[in-house]
Amino acid sequence: MQIIDKQFINGTFITPHGIQQLELENPATGEIITRVTLADETDTQNAIAAANAAFKIYSQASLETRRDYLQRIHDKMTERLDPLLEIISNEYGAPQWFAQFALQDAARSWLVAREQVNPETFRYNLKEGTEVILDPVGVAGLISPWNISVWFMCVKASTALAAGCTVVMKPSELSARQNNAMAEIFNDAGLPPGIINVLQGTGDVVGSEITRNPGIHKISFTGSTAIGKLIARQAVDSMKRVTLELGGKSPSIIMDDAQLENAIPFVLQVGLQNSGQSCTAGTRILIPESREAEIIEALKKGIEAMKVGPSTDPDSAIGPIVSKKQYERIQSYIKKGIEEGAELLTGGLAHPEGLEKGNFVKPTIFVKVDNHMTIAAEEIFGPVLSVITYKDDADAIRIANDSAYGLHAYIAGADIKRAKAIAEKLQAGRIAINGFVDEPRAPFGGFKQSGIGREFGKFGLEAFLEPKAIFEVRN
Ligand code: NAD
Repeated sequence: MQIIDKQFINGTFITPHGIQQLELENPATGEIITRVTLADETDTQNAIAAANAAFKIYSQASLETRRDYLQRIHDKMTERLDPLLEIISNEYGAPQWFAQFALQDAARSWLVAREQVNPETFRYNLKEGTEVILDPVGVAGLISPWNISVWFMCVKASTALAAGCTVVMKPSELSARQNNAMAEIFNDAGLPPGIINVLQGTGDVVGSEITRNPGIHKISFTGSTAIGKLIARQAVDSMKRVTLELGGKSPSIIMDDAQLENAIPFVLQVGLQNSGQSCTAGTRILIPESREAEIIEALKKGIEAMKVGPSTDPDSAIGPIVSKKQYERIQSYIKKGIEEGAELLTGGLAHPEGLEKGNFVKPTIFVKVDNHMTIAAEEIFGPVLSVITYKDDADAIRIANDSAYGLHAYIAGADIKRAKAIAEKLQAGRIAINGFVDEPRAPFGGFKQSGIGREFGKFGLEAFLEPKAIFEVRN
């Protein structure tokens, strides 16, 4: 068992004021693998004070200094990719292919952020006599979920630091090992104290303090829509700037001209990535009435060929669910799907045979789903897919947009012109045609209940900046 009893505040690992402890299990075995002592309000206030003191200096540092810090963290992180991979897999059961992909992406985010640190990003002439300057917004509170904590910590902190902000991070309490490993990397990078603070604590204690404390000027939150709304309400009292990356119920549209040998692996990959624990998962599969039987048969064959197993097995395509609580939540959705009259194509209730010990869920597909059924309307966050039949392109667009969410969408089809015409009518922050594309410079974020604002690239950086216009009247 790993004991984590220190918090990274003001450039040092300190024994926290908080005394509450939390034990975490390996989701594949149920064995307790971590005990973490959590931070409390006092620790949070100390971290916020340290970040404010550091902001006074860091916000005035040269762009060269900012670039140097980002590079240093990147370099220290790349020295530790192997242990990080092991931690990610053990802590929440991510299949190796997914953990590897996310980790590479996380490490790269420091360099992508560094690219943006140029004089023209922060100061430009709109026209003669009108100059625009972009100042760092202040101390950023970064609150993130467990479904690959390392990735969220890197993407958010790299952008904030590139903007000239200092940060107080509160990653998920379910990711203590990952959070601690990242704090060690920040420590090794040797930045001046207070620029990065990492708090291991719960949402209702540390998260709440970050949200309410006037020493935090910006919140970047990723997590559930319910908590996002709570944070936005609390943050407005001190007029914090808020970016919210929330839930999703993304559609995958299989067009009537789609080649199934490409379309089926594509929709299953995006539907079940990270064992279905992904905000961007394409969990509503929209199929044309004209090819219903053929596509359903191919989906069944495709999903039944996917191996469920622990992350220690490199062939596992689907791993365990992060916690018993999430496992039970997914079971209740499967039950609800059956009760509401959806037809179970494959999967269903209980553990897969031979995997009774951990939080493994049978990869499940429901067909004959009505878009208004609970399983099609609500985010399940597990390997459960709903197949909905449409009549024509207009009907597919209507069903795709008939959702409270609007994070991602996916389209599989041969006629690219038609696919793009469909894409333009979808209400989603990102739309991928015929394959998953990872572009860290393109905006990432959601329409409707999927959030407010965007991360990544220029859009993400601007969310940590406060624009200021200076007019010069020449007499
Ligand atoms: P969650 O909302 O329960 O928790 C997210 C974070 O908020 C955690 O660090 C948690 O401790 C903290 N928190 C909880 N209560 C809080 C409070 N009262 N005040 C401040 N902070 C609080 O989400 P989760 O279960 O960790 O993650 C799953 C959810 O995250 C899903 O809904 C998923 O769609 C969403 N998500 C969204 C994106 C995106 O980019 N849009 C990405 C990944 C996950």
